[in-house]
Amino acid sequence: MPDHRPTAAQLDAADPLAALRDEFELPDGIYLVGNSLGALPKAARDYVNTEFDRWSTLGVEGHFTGDLAWKDYHELLTSQFAGLTGALPDEVVAMNSLTVNLHLLMVSFYQPTAARHKILIEGHAFPSDHFAVESQIRQRGFDPNDSLILLEPRSGEQTLRLEDTLAAIAEHGDELALVFLPGVQYYTGQVLAMHEITTAGHAVGAIVGFDLAHAVGNLELSLHDWDVDFAAWCTYKYLNSGPGGVAGAFVHQRHVTDQRLPKLHGWWGTNKTSRFEMATEFDAIPTVESWQLSNAPVLLMASLRASLDIFDRAGGMGPLRRKTEQQIAFFDQRLKESLGDRVENITPKALAERGCQFALRVTNDDGRRVFEELENARVRCDWRHPDVIRVAAVPLYNSFDDIDRFVDILDGIVR
Ligand SMILES: *Cc1c(COP(=O)(O)O)cnc(C)c1O
Repeated sequence: MPDHRPTAAQLDAADPLAALRDEFELPDGIYLVGNSLGALPKAARDYVNTEFDRWSTLGVEGHFTGDLAWKDYHELLTSQFAGLTGALPDEVVAMNSLTVNLHLLMVSFYQPTAARHKILIEGHAFPSDHFAVESQIRQRGFDPNDSLILLEPRSGEQTLRLEDTLAAIAEHGDELALVFLPGVQYYTGQVLAMHEITTAGHAVGAIVGFDLAHAVGNLELSLHDWDVDFAAWCTYKYLNSGPGGVAGAFVHQRHVTDQRLPKLHGWWGTNKTSRFEMATEFDAIPTVESWQLSNAPVLLMASLRASLDIFDRAGGMGPLRRKTEQQIAFFDQRLKESLGDRVENITPKALAERGCQFALRVTNDDGRRVFEELENARVRCDWRHPDVIRVAAVPLYNSFDDIDRFVDILDGIVR
């Protein structure tokens, strides 16, 4: 068995992003679970403390004072969100949490009629997404038994084939109100072809939205150019904002000023200049900000800013994706050489269908036991029922050495 340590060391030495790891406080052991909760940026403490200090000294005046005025604080995130998602500044906003945003966006973008009332999702959708969609269907007086279409992989297969997704869209054509899929499937790590799916949905007259929980901060995205109608994401996974962090929302520019769209209103969606005159005439902000309801969670946005600054220093998603591609190649090779067919990665092989997550399945051992042994060995990863160990090599802070050591530990456990 060749010793891979020198190769990993060489790759780390040649990695232009390697120094970014020092900007994070990583728990001891090997942290490979940024797909679930990103690591803490060291600077987050200062960003949050700054707001405590401003609160302490300014009190309520903090809402209106200086460059960090809380009433406008969410605007500090706009250009970085736009960069990470391939959106225009008017199309993205930090607000609420992910499932809340999905509901708010479906209020606007799911408009069922007797003829066109179906929503296409995947059969293995993240439960929160499934619940949200089902409850939206019921809320409009329809029945999920008639209106919910569940897309499944072919029997014996783990991941969706694009041709099958496109065929399902075409098949339900006239009855399809909404196609709602993940950018990256949370269990298998499969990246879906968002651009093709959007085009196909539009071709049959459907709205197309994406849950980008596992896509933002992981992939290069072009939501505006792909013509996606709406999207939402959380920030505590690859964007490292911390537990319960503020979420993001995207609405395509062609919809943001559409007054005919139904929308739930709150005072944070109305004209900023008249907001504090307390008028009761809703005057929608002409951007996605008109979907905001409440004054925004400043402390959560402060920690997120610390992380987004590191994305800027990385040069955005381009360099991060290039590192991911190298890490995928190294990880694949290490798994193959050390574990052969004792471990199967159910994430598709094609690079276009992969982000930084691996979904590993142990073929001739008890997967749950292997996962527990990994935990005992201080490998931080996660278990997803029924039989997958998820690990993510996050290019901001995971090294090639992390991957190398992980494979050695796994090899020792399943041997
Ligand atoms: C992580 C995740 C969620 C979590 O939803 P919250 O509203 O943030 O609790 C929802 N959907 C998907 C696809 C996820 O990956």
